[in-house]
Amino acid sequence: MALKVSSIRAFSDNYIWAFGQDGSRDVCIVDPGDADPVLAMLLAEDLHISAILLTHHHVDHIGGVKALLAEFPDTPVYGPQSSKIDSVTSPLGGGDKLNVAGTEFSVISVPGHTLDHIAYHTCSYSNEENIESGLLFCGDTLFCGGCGRIFEGNPGMMYASLDKLASLPASTMVYCAHEYTQNNLRFALYAEPGNRDTIERLQQVNEARNAEVSTVPSMLSMELRTNPFLRCHTKAVRETVIEKMAIPFDSSDIEVFAALRRWKDSFSA
Ligand SMILES: [Zn+2]
Repeated sequence: MALKVSSIRAFSDNYIWAFGQDGSRDVCIVDPGDADPVLAMLLAEDLHISAILLTHHHVDHIGGVKALLAEFPDTPVYGPQSSKIDSVTSPLGGGDKLNVAGTEFSVISVPGHTLDHIAYHTCSYSNEENIESGLLFCGDTLFCGGCGRIFEGNPGMMYASLDKLASLPASTMVYCAHEYTQNNLRFALYAEPGNRDTIERLQQVNEARNAEVSTVPSMLSMELRTNPFLRCHTKAVRETVIEKMAIPFDSSDIEVFAALRRWKDSFSA
C-alpha cells in the first residue's frame, strides 16, 4: 500500500494537505484553516476524515477544525501542546511518534515562526517516481525556496529548527503550507545571484505558476541547493548578506541568517 497525498487550496495561497493509503476512504487532514474546501473535497470524492494534524496555532491552519469536528465528531486531533489550540485531543512534542493512515510519523519540534510549531516526518513514503523518499509536513517553518517569518521565537531558534529539517534525508518531499515559491526564489536570486540551480528552478517555477500549477512539494535536496535560508553557511550567501545588510565580517551563521530574514521581511518582488 502506498501513501497518497493531495492538496486542497484554501484562502489565497494556503495548502491544506489530505493523505491516506491509496484506495482508502479514510484521509488525514493537515492544517485545515478553512473547513469549506475540505468538506467539498470529501463530498466530491466520497471520503471521510480519520485524523486531523496541526502544525501550529495560526488561524489559517486551525480555523476549520471546529466545523470539521461538527461533521466528524470523534476525529482525533493531533497537534502541539499549546494553550492557543483548544481542539487538540492528542498533544504532541518533539520526539513523539504517531500512527495515522497506517504510517508512523515522527514529531519534530521546530519553534521560531511560533513557539508551538511542530513538523511531521515519515520515511514511509514514495514520491511520484515511486522512489522511497520520505515526507515532511512542515507548516510555516520551511517553505519551498524560503522560510517562515519569525513571529514568536528568535533567529537562533528558527535557525536550529531549520537545521533539524535540513538534516533529514535529502530525498524527503517537503510539503509546506503556502504557495510562496515564486516570490521566495526571486528573493533567493538577490541573496545568491550566481546560483545556477536557483536560476533554473525559478524558470521552472515561473512556467508552473503561469500555468497555475502548484510548486509544492519540493525535494529537500533542491532546497539544500537553492534555498538561501538553508545556505547561510555558504561563502556566496554570507558575502552577499554581510555586504547588503552591513553586518560585521565575522558574523556567525545565525547572525547571517537573522540579517537574511530581516532583508526578506522588507523585500517585495
Ligand atoms: Zn503561521
